[in-house]
Amino acid sequence: METKASDASDRSVLIVGGGAAGWLTACYLATHLGQERQGGPRITLLESPDIGIIGVGEGTFPTTRNILRTLGIEEAEFMRESQAAFKQGIRFDDWEVTPRNDVHSHYFHPFEAPYLGKEELELLPYWLIQDPATRPPYAEAVTFQKRIADARLAPKRLYQGHYSGPLNYAYHFDAARFANVLARRAKALGVHHLQGLLGEVVLDDTGAISHAISPDHGRLSADLYVDCTGFRSELLGKALNVPFRPVSGTLFADRAVVCQVSYPNANAPLESYTIATAHEAGWTWDIGLANRRGIGYVHSSHHTSESRAEEVLAAYVARSGGKTAAVEMRHISFDAGYRTQHWVKNCVAVGLSAGFLEPLESTGMVLIEAAVNKIAEFFPHSGPIDASAGLFNDLMVKRYDAIINFIKLHYCLSKREEPFWRDNTAAESIPERLRMLLDIWQHRPPSRYDFVIDHETFAHFNYQYILYGMNFHTDYQAAGRALPMKDKAEQIFSRIHSFGEQAAKDLSAHRATIKAIYDNG
Ligand code: FAD
Repeated sequence: METKASDASDRSVLIVGGGAAGWLTACYLATHLGQERQGGPRITLLESPDIGIIGVGEGTFPTTRNILRTLGIEEAEFMRESQAAFKQGIRFDDWEVTPRNDVHSHYFHPFEAPYLGKEELELLPYWLIQDPATRPPYAEAVTFQKRIADARLAPKRLYQGHYSGPLNYAYHFDAARFANVLARRAKALGVHHLQGLLGEVVLDDTGAISHAISPDHGRLSADLYVDCTGFRSELLGKALNVPFRPVSGTLFADRAVVCQVSYPNANAPLESYTIATAHEAGWTWDIGLANRRGIGYVHSSHHTSESRAEEVLAAYVARSGGKTAAVEMRHISFDAGYRTQHWVKNCVAVGLSAGFLEPLESTGMVLIEAAVNKIAEFFPHSGPIDASAGLFNDLMVKRYDAIINFIKLHYCLSKREEPFWRDNTAAESIPERLRMLLDIWQHRPPSRYDFVIDHETFAHFNYQYILYGMNFHTDYQAAGRALPMKDKAEQIFSRIHSFGEQAAKDLSAHRATIKAIYDNG
């Protein structure tokens, strides 16, 4: 069988892989480039049910909401089908110092940007000059999101027949169920679905892909091949031999041991943030879905053993109220890094086949979104299919490098004492640009001009939340004497506080809100 561009379409796309990356790419291209029956490209997705998907990755970023809207997937349908709950940010436990005598450190990274007021005033300088002994934590001074999340309230509420709300949010969801939601949407958009194994990938004289062979479907050819085969990277990595750039000298985590934990009853408390707890050689994620929790210990195999990692995970599950007896643990290995080029000739990689850093701050899905958005924009309807490959590679590599800096920030500020954490503060493990910025930020706070927006996933205020959550010291006292709008800033701080009081009265319980959304849409 030969799959090739049909009469209606000038171009055709073959996506290999049916995880979140494959189905999201299929939906996005069909939405943006037009469906085949309307003259858009013919899009075919091949996946092997025998290999299956990785099935982890339950935390997202607020951009996922835009993607769902763009793809025409209703929030209620998505939430119900994926057992999704709201995620208002991440609570970091024990990252700053090793806990002693049951004394723990915490800070919150909210999704909500700092409130500026109608005055558009950056509050950080005014927070920096307050007395460290009495001021509230930075994230709690500039937004009321933590207060709402701590009270187990949802970020939005039913108002005049619609759910709308004051706070930014993302989701926690079941990754396998989410792939099914995307698959259904892709098929409705006219994407052709083939189940079977990818066998051989045949290259032409120029080194581009001539065609692929599937034992189940024969010869498959297309104008553009999208490699979504996960860590196997069958097309870009194996067939085209594009090198992998490891970043293990900066990000040490290379293993995760994961499990699922049931709730004691259907009304058990459901947090609307990821709980990221630091341990001796890494950290655990604890993610609450409507029907269960997903928990995983991300760690470095150079700093701990598989059996010790299981002990740490089991101890965390036990102390956080889960039963360990019936818990099945699964080990996952990964190499932190990315392919040096993501689009080569007529092949582009999306998802784990292009790279993976680590689960902290949930950047897997964001990187998929960033890639598909650019592929759709750069897709040439005539001329060479790889005309924009160089531009694409430059943008994606810079995006990965920027995320590496942001993730490393979480580790290198820690004062924990174990070898894993000490090694994370070694200067040679910190990328040069991050080191430079950390030096600068000792004397002035992060500014949006420190970052090139098109390369960044995280804004300057995300950096601020982590830095000041970890008690980073910026010497601002001298500048503070001259700050002109102290009174105005104080008014805005108290306005944020009163908004929080009001929101705490208006918003309803997280679990009840998602149940209502599931039941009534
Ligand atoms: P996969 O899900 O592995 O899919 C690969 C597909 O390719 C499958 O359909 C498979 O059948 C198919 N395939 C492979 N080889 C062949 C072949 N030869 N023939 C035919 N088909 C083939 N991301 C987040 O956004 N948030 C998180 O919290 C998060 N946590 C993570 C935690 C861990 C431990 C790991 C490892 C990843 C995490 N991620 C997270 C990343 C996230 O899991 C992935 O980005 C996401 O699941 C997309 O995966 P994928 O589609 O690229 O690969």
